This record gives sequence, structure tokens and C-alpha cells, in this order.
Amino acid sequence: MKQPRTYLDWNATTPLRPQARDAMIAALDVTGNPSSVHAEGREARRLVTEARAALAAALGAEPRNVIFTSGGTEANVTSLAPGLRRGGGPAVARLLVSAIEHPSVLAGGRFPADRMARIRANRDGVVDLADLAARLADGPPALVSLMLANNETGAIQPVAAAADLVHGAGGLLHVDAVQAFGRMPILISELKADLVTVSGHKIGGPKGVGAVILAGDVNGPDPLIAGGGQEQGRRAGTENVAGIAGFGAAATAAMAALAAETGRMATLRERLERGLRQYPALEVFSQRTERLPNTSLVAMPGLRAETTVIALDLAGVAVSSGSACSSGKVTSSHVLAAMGVGHDLAAGAIRFSLGWDTTEADVDRALEAWRTVSGSLAKR
Ligand code: PLP
Repeated sequence: MKQPRTYLDWNATTPLRPQARDAMIAALDVTGNPSSVHAEGREARRLVTEARAALAAALGAEPRNVIFTSGGTEANVTSLAPGLRRGGGPAVARLLVSAIEHPSVLAGGRFPADRMARIRANRDGVVDLADLAARLADGPPALVSLMLANNETGAIQPVAAAADLVHGAGGLLHVDAVQAFGRMPILISELKADLVTVSGHKIGGPKGVGAVILAGDVNGPDPLIAGGGQEQGRRAGTENVAGIAGFGAAATAAMAALAAETGRMATLRERLERGLRQYPALEVFSQRTERLPNTSLVAMPGLRAETTVIALDLAGVAVSSGSACSSGKVTSSHVLAAMGVGHDLAAGAIRFSLGWDTTEADVDRALEAWRTVSGSLAKR
């Protein structure tokens, strides 16, 4: 009999929501190009327009301020653009990013390396606002990029407080909300962000579609992909209609279920951590700070993440070692390094991430597998 699988790697990607699948299948049969004026084209345009309205409603933005992209990575690189400004304010001339950002932000987007600096994080995996303030005071207006929730630890960042500092210094704030979207309520006005990145496949939509959401008074960013006039000239190329339709449907479903799903995930995560805390040497990272309800990054001295992930996989449990955005690559986590976690402990970090169809049985199976695997691996 085939062994049941327990998927606890929702921060890497999520299963497709049925609403997203239905919307995508329907969209695949729409012939028109959204740029065409005939009825077929208008039908395709309607799907893109509906999805745009769904994303805008989910984040409290204007539909015209939603730019669809090929995913979170492209949305981040699009957002990190020199020359961005608010209204008639000064253009940003440099980029500040926290040391715990996703690699697509750490790479700096379209800023040259010598116009970029990193902001420290503390041992709990939270950005150091005093360091941000000092950096802002030391140079021209900056674009600052901070994630709302970290993909490895789940730690929620003080984005609105950072926005006050950034705006006070004449800068702009970009927020990578890829992990937070669908796992906590997000309104662009409450974040006080100027640009927000979201991605389809972390909320039960398809992979390969994302969006930049702009606050009302932001000028820019210049298109990363120039050409045709799609997305109001801000992202050229015929739209991924089925992907966008699936993203919109997933956003609507995720928003409708948000309170119920986050409550369930928090209860299950607590069950998981209660079980894991039976191991006195185990550390749960960022546990003293506010975290996403679905994420637990843990490490136990003596365990190596690569072997633990493989052993858990063989036991039917899918988890990842630290960041799994480019799985297969075994490098130790830059997030844990930025938190000051020693290499030996960091090299054993395992991320459990839960989702809306995780059950108590999944959590218990993961704990049982952890007991077997940690016992046998630690003996070596
Ligand atoms: N930002 C964060 C925080 C992420 O966790 C990820 C992916 O894991 C991305 C950006 C990239 O998104 P995408 O996979 O849609 O390119």
C-alpha cells in the first residue's frame, strides 16, 4: 500500500486551491488575447480585470495599481528600481535591504552594488530599526526593502514603524509580502508601504505568477520588461491569462478563509512545537517574537539538515532545510547567519511549514518521524 505523505513545506509552495484550478481550466479555453478589441479578446481581458480587482481588494489597493508579473522574484526585481518617487518628491538614489531578505531582494534588483547596503537583524530574526534609522540619516533618499514575514523563521517585521522612519527621511518602502499574504491580514495602507510584492503559489494559486501592488501616489517603477503596452506599459508581454485568473481566484478564496485557516494553523503549530519541545536541546528560532501562525524553524545540535530532510522524506514527511526556494542547493542559511546563530546549529535547521489542509494526524506523523529520525541520526 502506498504510504500516506505529510506535506509540511507550505512556505516553499502550496497545493492549488480548487477555486484556482477551476478558474485556470476555464481560462485555458478562452481564445482571445487580452489586448484584442474583438469579443474573444474582451473575454480574456475580463478574466485579467477580475483577477486584478480580486488582488486589489485583498490588499486594499486600487485595481490600476496592480502590476502582474511572472512571480514574486520578478515583482521584487521590478520594485527595486532607482528613480522611484512619491508624487513630486525626490527620486530614490540608493537601496537599503535587511540582511534576512529573500535572495531576489538581496541581489539588489536594478541598483548597482555600490548603491546598496544591508540593515542588521537581531537574534530573534527581526530587523534592527536603530540600524535602519542610522543608515537613513547617512545619505540621500533611499528605497528600503523589508519583508513582512521571513520565509525561514516566519518572524514578522515591524514594517509600519520602518515606514515612518523611511518616509521621514524622504525615502520609499517596498515590502515583500510573499510569505505573509494569505497568512495574516494585509492592507497596503496599514503597512504604510509604497510597493508590495505578492506571489500566486504561496496562497494556493499557480506557480509563475505574482504582482507588484503600488500605493496611490508612487511614480514608477520603470518596466523591467519593456515592449508592448500591457499592464499600462509597466510590464510588457501577453498576459499569462490562466495563471492570472488562478491567482485572482486563489486570492479571493484565501481572503474568505483567512481567519479560520490562520486559527487552525496556529493550533496545529502549537501541537507540533509542544511535541518538539520534548527534546531539551532543540531550539525553535524566533519563538520570542511574533511569527506567522504556520512556520517553525528548529535545530538540534548534532543533526545535519541535509540528512534529516532526506530521512524525514523517506519516512513520508516533506520539510525543508532552512530556505527551500532553490531546493537541492545545500548552503547554510543567510537568515540564521544574520541572526548570529552559530554555523553548527544553523547547519541543522529544519523548517516545518503548515497550511490549510494540514491535519492533527499530519503533525503527529511528523513528530513520530522526528522521534525516529533524530534518534537514529544523533547516534552516528
Ligand atoms: N520572497 C519571499 C519571501 C519568498 O519566500 C519567495 C519564494 O519562496 C519569493 C520572494 C519568490 O517568489 P517566487 O517563487 O514567486 O518567485
